[in-house]
Amino acid sequence: MSETTTTNGRIAEVMPQLNKVNSEGHVRYGKMLIDGEWVDAADGRTFNAIYPGTGKAIAKVAFAGNEDVDRAVTAARAAFEVGDYAKMNGADRGKLLWRIADLMEGHIDELAELETLNNGKPLLESRWVDLPQSINCFRYYAGWAGKVSGQTIEPDMNVNAFAYTLREPIGVCGQIIPWNFPIQMATWKIAPAIACGNTVVIKPAEQAPLSILRLGELMLEAGMPKGVVNIVTGDGPTTGAIIVEHPDVDKVAFTGSVEVGKLIMQNAAKSLKKVTLELGGKSPNVVFADANLEFAAKVALSGIFFNQGQMCAAGSRIMIEEAARDEFMEVLSARAAKMVVGDPLNPKTRMGSLVSQEQMNRVFRYIEKGKDEGANLLVGGERVGEDGYFVTPTVFDGVKNTMTIAQEEIFGPVASVIAFNDVDEAAAIANDSRYGLASGVWTNDLKKAHLFAKKIKAGTVWVNTYNMVDNALPFGGYKESGFGRELGQASLDAYTQLKTVWVDLN
Ligand code: ADP
Repeated sequence: MSETTTTNGRIAEVMPQLNKVNSEGHVRYGKMLIDGEWVDAADGRTFNAIYPGTGKAIAKVAFAGNEDVDRAVTAARAAFEVGDYAKMNGADRGKLLWRIADLMEGHIDELAELETLNNGKPLLESRWVDLPQSINCFRYYAGWAGKVSGQTIEPDMNVNAFAYTLREPIGVCGQIIPWNFPIQMATWKIAPAIACGNTVVIKPAEQAPLSILRLGELMLEAGMPKGVVNIVTGDGPTTGAIIVEHPDVDKVAFTGSVEVGKLIMQNAAKSLKKVTLELGGKSPNVVFADANLEFAAKVALSGIFFNQGQMCAAGSRIMIEEAARDEFMEVLSARAAKMVVGDPLNPKTRMGSLVSQEQMNRVFRYIEKGKDEGANLLVGGERVGEDGYFVTPTVFDGVKNTMTIAQEEIFGPVASVIAFNDVDEAAAIANDSRYGLASGVWTNDLKKAHLFAKKIKAGTVWVNTYNMVDNALPFGGYKESGFGRELGQASLDAYTQLKTVWVDLN
């Protein structure tokens, strides 16, 4: 890219810092966190962490196998059953979560830079969206810790008994997360797990583990007792699969693709682990003719192009009412054509690099498929530069909902625009998908907005906005987008189990 020199300049500035912390023994890249210690893989195996902006390796990461995962699970089990953490009450776990948030805040620039370095997303997003949201997530669940309790319940039978429920932690939680929002996805899983008193073995995605390793170090600094959060790095079919099949893991929380989600459910069934799955999406963003078209177009673009479109909730099907199609498309395509990709580490860049060569190749395969199936490539569809994985924002018009680019999750900067004629047709098209993660509806007609919200089969409906995520509000999918909810009070259900206690009063 034209700004490659800037990128290299920034890496040159950041890398000595990484190496320095390495040699001083702080963040030990190349090692993972097991039982409060930074350790190598038992067999010494490592893999490279890449900076997607150049495609070059920036650090070595340990590759966990059977022995390592087993050590992590054993440590998590011990921490859950005995020791300081097992004795800690909810209020004290809350203080611990709050201290982690404070430390993250104190290191926000460094964490954001690391996130961008390993993921390729613009610093603007990691510094001003991902990190603040993650820090607040720890604070949100700090507030819940100590307030998670059961109920006293009057029995239905005519018995002389006193009955109540205890809401208890599940135990050792295996958490497997994707590369698109590494620190956020880790936070959404670690914070509620700890609030409820569980222990954790977390596996970052192999593409982007660095920020989570640094988070692990901050957690230790915050006073997290050993074994409570273990971070094992490695790939999915090896390290991830070992976690899922480990007999002493009580629950698996997974965010990632539908295909891997299905595999995890099958494998977890062998020991009947509790499972929550937050999977993909092909979310419809439906614009009615009476909406503020200019604003709808602007937000629809960020709804698909934020994080280069690598979002499970991406509004990848932009649906426009036929009556307003020409006017809307004019604004949408003009705005899309003006969006530029740039150096992820430049604080002004709005669109950065895709995470990997593999992901970029996948996106281009879909772009070719869109053209082959007769969609009209209106904007973009090109690679920028030869270093890194930069793809221009891409808009297809004239898309039919049966086309591959309307049915399959691309996970890249590709919007498919589909026209419709009325509310019923809009809902029918929107729901004609195996996914049901999120949706958007744009209208100034209150009745239409609520009617649509009722008709749509999706876990989230945004009315006259898109991509709003809040720590207090549950997030998760209908249909093949998964089950279980993250964030909000809902996540407490996912990390606890109910025990009923009967006391005979005769
Ligand atoms: P993506 O296609 O976005 O990379 P994946 O679903 O492949 O998403 O990966 C999400 C997470 O799941 C990553 O941490 C990955 O290592 C892990 N993973 C992939 N395959 C498996 C598997 N068979 N078992 C457990 N975890 C896996």
